[in-house]
Formats: sequence, structure tokens, C-alpha cells
Amino acid sequence: MNDPTLIGPCADYEHDLVDLHDGDLPPEQARAVRLHVEHCARCRDWARAFAAVDAQLAADLPQARLSTDFDARLQARLAELTRPVVRGDLRSAVEREHDSIVDTLRRGARRNALLGAIGSATAMTCVFVAARGLFREAPGALASLPGGTEPWMMFGVAGVAIAIAGLAWSAARNGLPLPGLAR
Ligand SMILES: [Zn+2]
Repeated sequence: MNDPTLIGPCADYEHDLVDLHDGDLPPEQARAVRLHVEHCARCRDWARAFAAVDAQLAADLPQARLSTDFDARLQARLAELTRPVVRGDLRSAVEREHDSIVDTLRRGARRNALLGAIGSATAMTCVFVAARGLFREAPGALASLPGGTEPWMMFGVAGVAIAIAGLAWSAARNGLPLPGLAR
């Protein structure tokens, strides 16, 4: 077995030498391998060379490092996962879900209200222009209204007409542009 013309360790000990180096051998077997190495120059040289290469690799290869707070974060995450779900957690989860839905609806309502307000303004402008034309063409009709053709009354009638038209238009859009109702 100890043929000096052979290179490398004794075939029977090669794996054991590696395991011995790594500390993976049971005590009894480790003792037997050490005993062999003491009396076998080939295995001794090979084991020494292996240890040197292993040390060099360990020094040269990049070391994977964990962030300094990794352990703390891992423990916190594990505690979170293993903690039994209590009623409070469930409730807060439901509340979060509820808030999210309400928020989505509010954003939709706000958009509708904005569109409604824009629509109201457009409708009011149209009605105002039409009313102005009407008053110019048929001033006689106003004489039958209380207040006659007084300018402030004309303005009041036009205002009421504009407001009604705007509200009707908004109601048709399913979104009254009133802050209190915009939900
Ligand atoms: Zn040997």
C-alpha cells in the first residue's frame, strides 16, 4: 500500500484524511487515521498540502456576509410568523381592508364630484347664455313676473334657473358636487 512510486495519499485513506481535516470523523476512526498519518509520509504530505490549499482557498474566496442586523430581523420575522393569530390582528387586517375599500370609493366619488362640478359649470354657462338671449328677445314676458323687469330680479330668475339646471345635470351624472355628499 505504501508504494513510494505512487503519488498522493494511500487510496484507503484519501477520504478519511479529508474528513479528518474537516472534523467529520468519529473519534475512534479519527484516532486510527492519525495513527496512520504518523507512520505514512505520503498521507502526511498529502494531508499537509490539502490543509494548505484549503486554508488558501478559505482566505482567497469571497466570504458571503450577512448584514449586521440580519439575525435580529430574522428573529423578529420568525416571532411574527409563529405568533398565533389573535383576534386583534384579524380585526386590524379587516379594518385595513375596509379603509382601503373606502379610500378607493372616495377617490372614485371625488372624481365623479369633480366631473359633476365641471358639468354644472358648463350647464350654468349654457343656461345663462340662453337666458340672456331669452330676456333680450322677449322682455315683455318678464313683465308678468313679480318685480317686472327690474335688473336684480332678472338676475335672480336667471340664477335660480342656472342652479336648477346645474343640479339636474349633476344628479343625472350620479354625482352631486356637494362636499357633504361626496362619499
Ligand atoms: Zn498512507
